[in-house]
Formats: sequence, C-alpha cells, structure tokens
Amino acid sequence: MNGPPDATVHDIVIVGSGIAGLSAAVYAARADLEPLVLEGPEPGGQLTLTTDIENYLGFPEGISGMELIGNGKEQAERFGAEFTHGTVENATLAERPFELELSGGKTLRTRTLLVASGASARWVGADGEDELMGYGLSTCATCDGAFHRGDDVLVIGGGDSAMEEALFLAKFADNVTVVHRREALRASEIMAARARDHDAIGFRWNTELEALHGSRKEGITGATLISHPDGHPSDKADPDDDIVRETVDVGGVFYAIGHTPNTEFLAGTDVERDERGYLRPRSDAAGRATTETQVAGVFAAGDGADPRYRQAITAAGTGSMAALDAEAYLETLDHTDAATVEGSP
Ligand code: NAP
Repeated sequence: MNGPPDATVHDIVIVGSGIAGLSAAVYAARADLEPLVLEGPEPGGQLTLTTDIENYLGFPEGISGMELIGNGKEQAERFGAEFTHGTVENATLAERPFELELSGGKTLRTRTLLVASGASARWVGADGEDELMGYGLSTCATCDGAFHRGDDVLVIGGGDSAMEEALFLAKFADNVTVVHRREALRASEIMAARARDHDAIGFRWNTELEALHGSRKEGITGATLISHPDGHPSDKADPDDDIVRETVDVGGVFYAIGHTPNTEFLAGTDVERDERGYLRPRSDAAGRATTETQVAGVFAAGDGADPRYRQAITAAGTGSMAALDAEAYLETLDHTDAATVEGSP
C-alpha cells in the first residue's frame, strides 16, 4: 500500500542512475532543476558490470566502467542532483503533476519525468536456470568470473558482450567455450579477433544451451548442448536426425545474449513502446527526432529507448538531450502558467 504523496512537486525525476541518467542529471542540475535521480536494482547501470571501456571519447588509455560511473555521479552531485533508492512500480501520467509509486511504498510527484531506466540481461530459457542463477550461472563475468579459477566455462551468445565476457573469463578459467546459435558472430571484428586469437577460448557453432545441471549446493556441474548444422537448433520444427545433443562438464555458464529494456512500469500509460519494450520517442512537427515521448513532459534516454546503438557515449548523449528537452518543456509550462495567472479575472 502506498501512502499519500509527498507534498513536494519535483521539476524533474530521473528514473535510472546509469550513464544516461547521470548525464541527464548533470544537465538538469546545472539548469537549476534540482533533479531527483532514482537508483533502481542495478545502481550505476550496465557500465558498472563492464571492465575497461576503450571507446568512450576522452580516455585514451580507457577507463573502468565503475570509475566512469563514479565520476559521473560525483559530477551530478556537485551541481546539486539528489540520489535516492527506488524502483517505479506504477506511473500515473494522465494527470499533472505526474505520480510515481515506488517499490518502498513512497509516492513522488513531478512536473517532468525522464526515463533512463536502461535494460537488463536476457535469459536463455534453459532448463535449470531459475534454480542455478547465482549458483554457477551468471550474467556478469566481471562480477563472478573470479569464482571460476581453473574451471571450464561456457559463454552463451555471439555479440560483443559474449566476446568481452569470454576474454575476461579467460583470465581465470582454464577453458572458455563460446556457444553461438549460428555460424557467424555478430560481434565487431576487433572483439571477435581478440577472442579468436586467445588460446584459452574456443567456439561451438550452430549450438544452443538446452539444460543446466547441478544444484545450489554444488553449483553447476554440466550443461546439455544441442547443435544443428543449419544453426538455431531449438527452432527446428521436428527434432530430426541432424540434431546432436551432448552433455559437457563445466563449472560455470555465463549468459551474454543481449538485454531487455526496463520499461514495464510504463505499460498502460500513453507512452509508446515497441514489441520488445523499447520506448519510441516522437518526432517534432518538422519530422526531427526528439527525446519526448507521446506524453508531453515525459522524456526518454539511454538503452531503454535505443535498440540500435546502445553505446555508453550514445546513452550519455541522449541523457543530455532529454534533460535539455525537459528544461525547454518546463519553460513553456512556466510561460503558460504565468499567462493564465495574468489573464485571470
Ligand atoms: P547483441 O549484439 O544483441 O548480441 C546478442 C547475441 O546473443 C547475438 O549473437 C545473438 O545471436 C545471441 N542471442 C540472442 N538471443 C539468444 C538466445 N535466446 N539464445 C542464444 N543466443 C541468443 O548484444 P550484446 O552483445 O549484449 O551487445 C549489445 C550492444 O552493446 C552492441 O551494440 C554491442 O556492440 C555493444 N557492446 C560493445 C562492447 C565493446 O565494444 N566493448 C561490449 C559489449 C557490448 P544472433 O547473432 O544469432 O542474433
């Protein structure tokens, strides 16, 4: 049960403390909007789970994700941004100010909402994953890789994340096998080459993970893989002779198959999301892209609105854009309010 809303009406609440939210917070704070930033279940967002970031402009030697996020938070706080823990469970956007019900029972009121809630790791759907997630099964090599010294481990996926996870795990594990559902990697050539050239990293092509074996007590002990020469084995309509099923002994499995946007709390509002849940900000009258959603005063930034680029630097860029758009919107609101008061009898 949520209590009565706090009497405070914020100018802007930023949902998410990843790089998009932090960049938005710096811009909003410097515009004297006193932003309140909500830190959800993954404070600092996906970058805190990354090792070195080599393609963020301005750091010729690279920078760790943790450090970049730590610096960003410090920068936002220096200009007056406030941070609080909370996950939005329900958003009422049909009335103004907007109301946000948080997981802890608190209700916030705000004139603008900036959604920078990012995306979370996807799960494969293999048998046993619910039981073994956190017990040898992980979505974060940076967090859990060190538990697998001397193990053989699997990384599921064929994108840049899978290559990054495999390279990180190769520091600890004896053998890392990348399991990919088709024959060509999606990863960028530079990342793929690093993984291919590493002695401890191998590849299983046209293969998927079907089941995990083990228990919470002993961790993961093995995995069942299925392969088909044409790839995507689990999509084959009839289990035919070409499907090969094999159980391998492994001590750890890491998922790196992409992410799902954290936008579920906007279901039932007029904010548009695509079939995967990504926000779809609208274009302006001249057809140019904006960060404003279909609800005036609600803005979108970062990976939750970006199925395409999903880079740290693009997320930071859209965060600053959304804060600028929110600032401009608040100015028009203030003018409208002032005009209404002046025009009142
Ligand atoms: P991604 O590029 O979407 O790749 C996901 C991979 O998982 C794909 O290879 C996909 O296979 C596979 N996959 C998806 N669903 C699957 C399922 N149910 N079962 C088995 N395999 C499945 O995601 P990402 O690797 O997380 O990268 C996201 C973005 O971040 C990309 O733009 C990437 O470049 C960027 N990124 C960059 C770096 C870096 O430069 N250091 C590091 C990490 C991420 P298919 O190929 O068959 O679709």
